Amino acid sequence: MRNVIIIGSGPAGWTAAVYAARANLQPILFEGHEPGGQLMTTTDVENFPGFPEGIQGPELMRLMREQAKRFGTEIVSELVESLKPIDGGFEVVVKGQAHQAKTVILSTGATARRLGLESEKALYGKGVSACATCDGFFFRGKKVIIVGGGDSAMEEAMFLTRFAEHVTVVHRRAEFRASKIMQERVLNHPKISVIWNAAIEEILGVDVGHVTGVRLKDTVTGETKEIPIDGVFAAIGHEPNVALVKGLVDLDEKGYIQTVPGRALTNIPGLFACGDVQDHRYRQAITAAGSGCMAALEAERYLADHETA
Ligand code: NAP
Repeated sequence: MRNVIIIGSGPAGWTAAVYAARANLQPILFEGHEPGGQLMTTTDVENFPGFPEGIQGPELMRLMREQAKRFGTEIVSELVESLKPIDGGFEVVVKGQAHQAKTVILSTGATARRLGLESEKALYGKGVSACATCDGFFFRGKKVIIVGGGDSAMEEAMFLTRFAEHVTVVHRRAEFRASKIMQERVLNHPKISVIWNAAIEEILGVDVGHVTGVRLKDTVTGETKEIPIDGVFAAIGHEPNVALVKGLVDLDEKGYIQTVPGRALTNIPGLFACGDVQDHRYRQAITAAGSGCMAALEAERYLADHETA
């Protein structure tokens, strides 16, 4: 039985691995089928301390992976299929093979929610994006739509005005849920207009291979109309990747893993969580990394306590 299994390979997982490996816990990390997580679809990361000129998201992940490896983390490029408690620890199954450990650190992250349209899938990366900060640059002088009414939608709408000629926020209700200050910035911006009570029924342009417009449906009257547009950004929240632990650990009201405030502890002793899977508030690479460090320190203490017990 190992000391620690780490599941997930974003900044939280890699930081946990660096700390666990340097504490001589010989961690094994399962990096999944989309190693690196959300930073792999980010370009410039300008707010991760230590990189005054900024760094590309994938490069930051590569460096963290190298660092975890250097201290002896065993890295497995597979997806964990299941996780269950066993006597004295936990068992995870990977490609049909069981691995056991006294502790598990969960850092499976979150995934941007999609609109769920076939046309969205077909035109993803061809005018459809879930990340304004990643792709906004490609829409210089263009007209774009941003879907959503939360802080992310407001923030991304503002960000897109740096490039786009015009930004239209499409929201399914008649009021935003975003904070007042962010709403006001959007509502007062000369380059931004809002279409209330509207949902995208279809993204147009599949036939030509890039976004040419959208068909909107009024959520009150049911009326539809088509408008020409060059890009569609969804900022409709994230889903935590909790499939492995559903029914096993306590989740909060938003479906994220519930951790003890200020700690990386879940309700199951020996099972720790870090990064976006337990954080719907900050969702930053640096906060994820910080919580990964916390999870590894917790695991280390837990193992020490159980050795002497
Ligand atoms: P959010 O607050 O959950 O907002 C999601 C928005 O998308 C809501 O307006 C929701 O509509 C809409 N939506 C959800 N599913 C949809 C669908 N299928 N079709 C159309 N619209 C849909 O998510 P978020 O904006 O990503 O923010 C997450 C958290 O991070 C929040 O706590 C937020 O305050 C925080 N945050 C803070 C900042 C900041 O302070 N700088 C920046 C970004 C995020 P309804 O309103 O109708 O539900």
